[in-house]
Amino acid sequence: MNIVCPGDRLSCIEEYESNENTFEDKNGIIRSTSIGKININKEEHTLEVQNASEIELPKTNDIIIGVVVSVISSMIIVSIEYVNNKHISSKIECVCSTRGLHKKTIAIVDDIITLKTIGYKNGTIHTSINDPEMGVLFTKCKKCGGEVITIRDGIKCINCTWMDERKLSRNFGNMNFIKLN
Ligand SMILES: [Zn+2]
Repeated sequence: MNIVCPGDRLSCIEEYESNENTFEDKNGIIRSTSIGKININKEEHTLEVQNASEIELPKTNDIIIGVVVSVISSMIIVSIEYVNNKHISSKIECVCSTRGLHKKTIAIVDDIITLKTIGYKNGTIHTSINDPEMGVLFTKCKKCGGEVITIRDGIKCINCTWMDERKLSRNFGNMNFIKLN
């Protein structure tokens, strides 16, 4: 989402002065010189790109653990908290296509989910949920927010008995030691 690649258009010189890891092209467009995250300083009207190496950007086949922030028709957006079990402080998001998964509900907002990075496209980190290890690690009942247990290939609320489904990770329920926010 907020990841840029070399050459990406960031802004124009009327709006911001270019700073670290950026350059102005001959048309007055500020562009990125590296993969990273845009930092905007509104007071000083400057703009820079924080290097990927400084923000621990996930690489292909890295394992991500994060929190679902948005669910759209055929994709979910996840705020990354851990890359290969290492906590990262920068707020980076990734997307995961859920097309072709035959479930009504893949995940809901605030679920904790694990995903595998498959690459970058258009400045976005793309991930996959298809492997058995990938999927929801922690969720709550959509109706009452109660605790759920797995039942056959779905989940059931132990409070209100609401039955639901998710794309569960094989490790669902084994991640209680991770505390997010
Ligand atoms: Zn419930």
